[in-house]
Amino acid sequence: MKKIQMVDLISQYDKIKPSVNKAIETVLNNATFINGPEVNEFKTSLQEYLNVKHVIPCANGTDALQISLMALGLQPGDEVITPSFTYIATTEVIALLNLKPIFVDVDKETFCLDSKKIEEAITPKTKAIVPVHLYGQAANMNEILEIAKKHNLFIVEDNAQAIGSDYKLNNGEMVKTGTLGDIGCTSFFPSKNLGCYGDGGALFTNNDELAKTIKQIANHGQSEKYYHDIVGCNSRLDSIQAAVLNIKLKKLDEYIDSRRIVANCYDKAFSNLNGVSTPFRSNDSKHVFHQYTLILEGIDRDELHKSLADYNVPSMIYYPVPAHRQKMFQKFNSKELDLPVTDWLTKRVISLPIHTEMEAEQLTHICSSFIKALDKT
Ligand SMILES: *Cc1c(COP(=O)(O)O)cnc(C)c1O
Repeated sequence: MKKIQMVDLISQYDKIKPSVNKAIETVLNNATFINGPEVNEFKTSLQEYLNVKHVIPCANGTDALQISLMALGLQPGDEVITPSFTYIATTEVIALLNLKPIFVDVDKETFCLDSKKIEEAITPKTKAIVPVHLYGQAANMNEILEIAKKHNLFIVEDNAQAIGSDYKLNNGEMVKTGTLGDIGCTSFFPSKNLGCYGDGGALFTNNDELAKTIKQIANHGQSEKYYHDIVGCNSRLDSIQAAVLNIKLKKLDEYIDSRRIVANCYDKAFSNLNGVSTPFRSNDSKHVFHQYTLILEGIDRDELHKSLADYNVPSMIYYPVPAHRQKMFQKFNSKELDLPVTDWLTKRVISLPIHTEMEAEQLTHICSSFIKALDKT
């Protein structure tokens, strides 16, 4: 049996090798490393795939989040509502821009912002909400959209883990996550559901004005060549990365299906185990399973992790320390915040291998090993 990994990018590459190598070679032969035709092609294809008016590629997902907040024209001290139960990038850019992260607890089922707890966190300084579609399932966007409208707040979706996911609006319309708020952000980090072979990211918006500002910020605040009107940054998607993404975007739906097959198989195997909760599936959001994350109750997680490793089954904790308990946020007295669900989940979640290249034999081995490992703890 092939070695089991959290993500198997080598086997995935093996299947698309000739087309990827050819596409990269084209960039090399033409030396169009920056802003080559591949970048524009990718931008257009992603716009079509997401059914969104503007896609602005950039250098990575963290930049996408930072540029979003810059584009909204927020002032130092303005408050931005965000979960603490997320990858650090979401919250870090808020502090970097001298904005104040206001951590709101998450929902135990979706792992995403608890929309019931947002309104009590809103103050006259609140300007934006940054929901994260964690592990590949959307936050409760129907409610978040209503709250934002009522309080006149911007929404920046952190869609780094949920690209390709469909969301059902209250009016029945299906839309892609990342296109629901004012701006959507994503990352093409290699292990993401749509990953390139280095760093990459993008912003999405249906707002023409915001699109213009975002493009300008990502390009040194430039309005015309060598004329810089606002302070920006340099954030570009390389042509080589775009060339890879053009090939992988065409396979994204197929890749998502493969992840769902793995998730369904785990669900079946683990649904009746004592102390183990399989991921909740919302009716409104189609889970794209960037991660397959279980909640363990009354089970020694470290022991289980070690025991799984003895069967050559890797497992991971996403994430071992929530943002509000990170040293970088101490100045906001964030450690004293009461985020009971975030703290509860942080101690109990465990993620199993999930990717596009899982073989039946590997899946069977993981399921049976998990049950044996559980028996030992
Ligand atoms: C990966 C990720 C990011 C950051 O993306 P980079 O491309 O690594 O900068 C931000 N938010 C979430 C939720 C992520 O998973």
